[in-house]
Amino acid sequence: MIYVIGIGPGGKEYMTLEAIEAIKNSDVIVGYKTYINLIEDMISDKEVVQNGMRKEIDRCKMAVEIAKEGKDVAVVSSGDSGIYGMAGLILELVVKEDDDIKVKVVPGVTASIAAASVLGAPIMHDFCHISLSDLLTPWEVIEKRLRLAAEADFVVCLYNPRSKGRSEHLARAFEIMGEFKDGSTPVGIVKDAGREGEEKYICTFDTMNFEIVDMTTMVIVGNKSTFIDKDMMITPRGYTV
Ligand code: SAH
Repeated sequence: MIYVIGIGPGGKEYMTLEAIEAIKNSDVIVGYKTYINLIEDMISDKEVVQNGMRKEIDRCKMAVEIAKEGKDVAVVSSGDSGIYGMAGLILELVVKEDDDIKVKVVPGVTASIAAASVLGAPIMHDFCHISLSDLLTPWEVIEKRLRLAAEADFVVCLYNPRSKGRSEHLARAFEIMGEFKDGSTPVGIVKDAGREGEEKYICTFDTMNFEIVDMTTMVIVGNKSTFIDKDMMITPRGYTV
């Protein structure tokens, strides 16, 4: 059995009981170092296979091989494993195998949801997730999605917003969305949501400070009815109050 587990944003209190149970039931834990570290105290009696970033394919292939030996293996991702996590890759590999390997995808609290709860209620209405990482997606595709999401007035949650190697992507993303998003549109920024060192900033589209954003940050851009009050970002559902 392979459990593909989303462990949530980091803090133990955000892990589901199903995730905790699946980790307990596993013989081997496979994952990227940072995520393994987050659950270190839960896996002291387990065999652990960890490697660095950008080794996703090797890591998942290893998990499939271990499962073929008859062991129960947990592949851990942060947040939800089905949102820019390992669930898709594991299933893609498993469907290619002759073996009848069972896979259980265990959901987790994804970063956008964790950040939204810190900000108030910014994603109450239709929203989308867009990753600004062009490692696996051509940048032209990302630009098109940003433009159309802004035109359609979605609340936009930006994953992988800004790394050292891609420091300009976020500013460019704002330039593109700025065609349709007003300067007064609320923007919420949460660094390390739901884990130690959490930081929250609320500003507007025009006063956005790109420098405070890094790779453990979630950026949420509101829609036309999103407003800021009492240090909260709120997108009305449409009720008359
Ligand atoms: N599977 C993960 C996402 C992995 S992509 C999930 O469902 O949350 C990695 C990106 O997620 C980061 O660049 C950052 O934008 C976001 N992220 C992950 N954890 C976060 C956290 N605790 N706080 C803020 N953003 C986070």
